[in-house]
Amino acid sequence: MNIIFDLSGTVFGSSDRSLRPGMKEAIQALRDSGNTVEFWTSDPSENFEELLGREGIEGRVFSKWEPLPFVPDICVDDEPHGWMPGHHYKVPKHVSRQYPGSSILVAELIYISEKMNFFWD
Ligand SMILES: [Mg+2]
Repeated sequence: MNIIFDLSGTVFGSSDRSLRPGMKEAIQALRDSGNTVEFWTSDPSENFEELLGREGIEGRVFSKWEPLPFVPDICVDDEPHGWMPGHHYKVPKHVSRQYPGSSILVAELIYISEKMNFFWD
């Protein structure tokens, strides 16, 4: 499966950009079991590739403001409702090391038509 992870508020805390506990291991486990994991962000000013590299996580970072070159099967995002159609599942959110936060949302893409962009249109 193609899995895309949001960065701010998902892989990293939204306030201090700390790596969410267990995220590196989860991404590696997904890759080890044959999945493709990529990343995306709506924040053009942040250099997340550098931040990922610092944490030893490889992967491409795409903009949420442009169509993706592939269709993800699963989107892991703290705010999927604006980006991904499908069912949403809540899991605990990681805001920062100091403020664990309340929830994170995960969207599973269940339908996409030929005419529909990845984004809601
Ligand atoms: Mg986010």
